[in-house]
Amino acid sequence: MMATLLLGGLPPETVPSPMMTLNTDGPVRQESHIGRATTEEMHLGERSLPPERARQIRKSVLLAQIEAQRSSAVTVASSLLRTRQTFVGENTCYYSSTGLHELIQINMSSLSTGRRHKGAYLLCRVVSRTAHLVGINFVVEDSEGDCCHVTVHHYPHTLDFSSVETDMVFPIGSILAIREPFCKTSTTGSFCTIRVDAPSDVVFLKPNVPFLEGISWRSEIITPAPPSNAGEWKNLGVSSFKQQRWLCAAVAFSKGLELEPMNSLLLLNRSETYLRLLWYNSALRDAEIVLGMKLKDPILQRKALVRATRAHYYSGRYTDVTRLAHEHPLISDLTAYATKAAQRMREQTLGSYDWQVIHEVEENPGSRVDIAPYKGPVEVKTPDGGRRLRGLFVTQDVKAGELLLVSKAIASCYYSEVAVSHSQDSFEIRDLADQVVQRSWDDSNVACVIATLYAGDYFHSASYPPPPAPHLPASPTQSSANIDTARIEAVCAKNSFGVEKTPMRIAGAVLHELPSFCNHACLPTADFYILGDVMIVRARIAMKAGDEVTLAYIDPLKTGRSAELTKRDWDFICGCELCQADRADPPAARRQRRELLVLPAPRHLVDAAVRAELLHATYHDTPERRRCRAKPGLVRVYETLARLHRDAIDAPCDIAHLVPSIAFLMKSLEAAGTVIIDQRIIEVVSNEDVGELDLELPIDLAAPPRFPNECAQNMILLANSLFIMLQKKRALSWVKAATLVAIPVTGNDGALFVEIYKSLFLNELLDAFTSISAGFMS
Ligand SMILES: [Zn+2]
Repeated sequence: MMATLLLGGLPPETVPSPMMTLNTDGPVRQESHIGRATTEEMHLGERSLPPERARQIRKSVLLAQIEAQRSSAVTVASSLLRTRQTFVGENTCYYSSTGLHELIQINMSSLSTGRRHKGAYLLCRVVSRTAHLVGINFVVEDSEGDCCHVTVHHYPHTLDFSSVETDMVFPIGSILAIREPFCKTSTTGSFCTIRVDAPSDVVFLKPNVPFLEGISWRSEIITPAPPSNAGEWKNLGVSSFKQQRWLCAAVAFSKGLELEPMNSLLLLNRSETYLRLLWYNSALRDAEIVLGMKLKDPILQRKALVRATRAHYYSGRYTDVTRLAHEHPLISDLTAYATKAAQRMREQTLGSYDWQVIHEVEENPGSRVDIAPYKGPVEVKTPDGGRRLRGLFVTQDVKAGELLLVSKAIASCYYSEVAVSHSQDSFEIRDLADQVVQRSWDDSNVACVIATLYAGDYFHSASYPPPPAPHLPASPTQSSANIDTARIEAVCAKNSFGVEKTPMRIAGAVLHELPSFCNHACLPTADFYILGDVMIVRARIAMKAGDEVTLAYIDPLKTGRSAELTKRDWDFICGCELCQADRADPPAARRQRRELLVLPAPRHLVDAAVRAELLHATYHDTPERRRCRAKPGLVRVYETLARLHRDAIDAPCDIAHLVPSIAFLMKSLEAAGTVIIDQRIIEVVSNEDVGELDLELPIDLAAPPRFPNECAQNMILLANSLFIMLQKKRALSWVKAATLVAIPVTGNDGALFVEIYKSLFLNELLDAFTSISAGFMS
């Protein structure tokens, strides 16, 4: 499917970005801000007010509010439309990085609104059921008997949770320490709420910890008795597991393990549950504890080994998979993983992949291809002693089409896979941020990587690569790292790539590590393609060691313009050849071009011809334009003219429309920077057998087209028309040209070329092409 290949940033006209950044060192993406503006304004509004003492509200009133929220949560969930923005703002103090032991305990009576209580924690107990709206809401009470409303945002794996499920995570009676709490007036202004933006700020305390010595609670909580032994917790966990409520299952198994820490069944069950939650470090730890017990039962031993192996495999530790399989040669599951691990290691070290299979897998919605990441000859650096921007650079000479990166997403979010549906066209950073939080919860390395990525001028970026983080134990109620939600949201907003379903519809968004360091150029040195949560970066042109790897955040073909004209949206000035050429045109011409390009696409031949004429006149013959060769605004309009002629064809060999459709495809190719040598449209019919050697290239590859993917597609369409006109030989030479032009997309992989472009071909032409192509396709 071509649509999945034609990817890029969000078209700026759909969401003008409010998020201005200075020259950045990574992709700057727009983010959803429909709800953000109001949240942000609210934060700013509150900051301008002097802090005042938080108003105390009676417990019964707060409890009634939660029950009301709880019933409205049901209505909202059933309408399957939940607005979920929380943007915490461009502010660095929305999480706590201070350990509990360094903080002093405070009570509700010391809380003030509109400020963060630095250096303190609030000790409290949950006294209500939960209501899951944008965040998880509940009421807490301190030891003096004062109550307050709490909202916890971004709690991992709770995106599609019902209130019944969030009750399991925050059951009544839980003792919480909320680190450095932030108290604010509720949106309605009627009560105060403690807003927790970073879920790692909530620390669950067991009743018997020394920390709580001397604390006595003024009121008693009456709750239904929780399970009193490990067996009952296990049963509860298993029943949640069967309902695929992974987090609830993990919570239940953890509670059982609090009572019996070395219960092997609970550990194995929790390990399996962690695998489902993609918390591989936690899954491995539980499996390893069981392996350390040296159990006599071969079934349990085997389960522990397989779970440890899966945890290693899915976190990319392939040598550990091989080691375990080698140590236990009789366990066939391990051998199967070892075989796959060997394949992954080849991918990782050599960059050799079966691209055709990978594309086929990715055409199935919801599927994720199982491949290893690959880092080609690239490095992150700040060249010229810091005078230039940080970016990604090649460390050796590379050819056009050479594989530079196969990156696996830090987080990916596809709306078709998110249980809670959204207002269809909204692009929500929060969902991506939620995923980053989920991964950081189990893997502190993710938090370290996030700390290196550009997050705007409010945040300092650590140097890259980050030092490896210690693996700290996590649990469903305890994160392995302090989670800086504000930074995560800002990183997602500024570095994520939108994935398009169609040119105007967003299918989802992905966040990647190394691609985030690539700076923008409208005519970039590299191309990227997103397949699910894999991003492939190839060199578009040949590069010399030390050249910068740039990507086009927005494809100029989508807007018809260069980034020079979108500075309003992106706030950086691109210096690429296209921008230079666009800047060299007189301001009046640029203004007219801009006006023409935002008009709806013409639907009739006459309108399209007039549009083409007017647009053509806006491109002036300047040295800059001749150097750049591209007139992106004309590419689409000529394509439209060619398509309108093709649509008008009413007989198999209708010359009256076939000829102009070919002519306009050629004009479109030229507007995309192709130098066409063979301009003929009609020649004497030659339908004889042709071999590969007979094919002469109709274009000059010394000046390669500026937009490889687009040009390859148009060349195939052109070849189809020639083929219909019985010019088989010329049709095949255009297909050959397409294969060469598409090298930045295909890496010169013939099977991949066919896989990507087959839907555009006339069947007979594709057959004729595959029968002779062996000679010039690898
Ligand atoms: Zn540019």
